[in-house]
Amino acid sequence: MSPGATGKPGNARGRALHGPDTSVAAWPWFSRMTEIWWTRNAGRPAIDGARAARASSLIAFAREHSPVYRRAWSGLPQREVALAELPVATKRELMTHFDDWSTDPRVDRAGIEAFLADRTHIGERYLDRYVVWKSSGSTGEPGIFVQDESALATYDALIAVQLSGTRLAGPYAWGLLARGGRAALIAATGDHFASIASWQRMCRGTPSPNARAFSVMDPLPRLVAELNAYQPAFLAGYPTVLAQLADEQAGGRLRIAPTCLWSGGECLAPATGAAIERAFGCTLINEYGASECMSIAYGCREGWLHVNDDWVVLEPVDRDYLPVPPGETSHTVLLTNLANRVQPVIRYDLGDSVIAKLEPCACGSPLPAIRTEGRHDDVLAFTAADGRTVSVLPLALTTIVEDAANVHRFQLVQQAPDRLALRLDPCDANRRKIAWHAAAKALHRYLAAQSLANVEIALDRSPPVADPHSGKLREVIVDYPQRAD
Ligand SMILES: [Zn+2]
Repeated sequence: MSPGATGKPGNARGRALHGPDTSVAAWPWFSRMTEIWWTRNAGRPAIDGARAARASSLIAFAREHSPVYRRAWSGLPQREVALAELPVATKRELMTHFDDWSTDPRVDRAGIEAFLADRTHIGERYLDRYVVWKSSGSTGEPGIFVQDESALATYDALIAVQLSGTRLAGPYAWGLLARGGRAALIAATGDHFASIASWQRMCRGTPSPNARAFSVMDPLPRLVAELNAYQPAFLAGYPTVLAQLADEQAGGRLRIAPTCLWSGGECLAPATGAAIERAFGCTLINEYGASECMSIAYGCREGWLHVNDDWVVLEPVDRDYLPVPPGETSHTVLLTNLANRVQPVIRYDLGDSVIAKLEPCACGSPLPAIRTEGRHDDVLAFTAADGRTVSVLPLALTTIVEDAANVHRFQLVQQAPDRLALRLDPCDANRRKIAWHAAAKALHRYLAAQSLANVEIALDRSPPVADPHSGKLREVIVDYPQRAD
């Protein structure tokens, strides 16, 4: 799942369960799943061959149909070029030249923005053929991503392969869903984010979907009560959401018995994954995805993520975009999505730090293994007026600020158990004042609904500060001495 923008909603992250849905594009999905099975069972040479053929075909297609890439590659020889010879693409550059990026001239920014402005369209097809979502811009740049039929079928097939490959959990969850078990997604549901758009796409393709989406913005006690009433067999959410719910389950307030859990959109620490599985007594499948490519990799029982490298190319690189060897932390990764042609993503700076595994993984997967270093926000703990500790999801706070203040580069700093400060990117004084008032009001309203009306919301005059080690901006940080216990 990719409940993604920031691990955020925008973030593609928070993505849903598509596998059991046979009514959505049933045939492309099934034939692609068979193809993935065949390729992976044939081993590394078959996987490498499939990836190389797809990369070569995508490069030729982009060169012919996407003006942005044609211009960027104009100095390259006219012969067939290898992926590694191509320049890096950035989100800013692709978003700036949005209309020229697309390989379908009917896909233009004006039309897409009009479509996205209406939130009743979430998960509907654009031009009857594309699914569109936006990312909230965890790196300070919001993005709009269009997915074609082939990409959607591939994401669905990758999920299906993953579910079936998870011994016990997969077949059991499938059987259970087929018999009418309920599926629940907990995500940012209020806008065209990848997770909820994917979920709505699934629900729209099913006559009476046994699935329900819950909002991460709901106060935890309400979410717990709703889940107790709904009793999902399959539960998907961000790791921070599932960790919060695992505490509720362990404390006896949440009482559900899912057969399979699905997480995505944020980094999942192995210890957190184990704690979630322990609390619910079932398998957790962890997906690494992004708005630019919903299914990049899946977690294995050894705690590594295996890259779907028959459909995705992931290149760990340093600050100068030079390759970083396995075992070392990269500055960023270059993503190439081999499944989507309407908006080709080719050697795209994704912004995540990863470490590639040096030796083969003990789980036996033929796919390369990585760990991600980025996108992990901790659940914040605030102290309510009556002394209770109330946990708050970073994702909920960032969603509120983006939505209320329409800003994408900011930082929330918890400065005390009852104080939260907002740092805004320097811009003109008037805009800053309006953004601050809107954000403060919305944050206060949200926190009050969580029994945290006592929490002080302050404006920190300093600009957002990037992490000194990685150089990246974390949108939610904790900055005060905490007790070790
Ligand atoms: Zn593994």
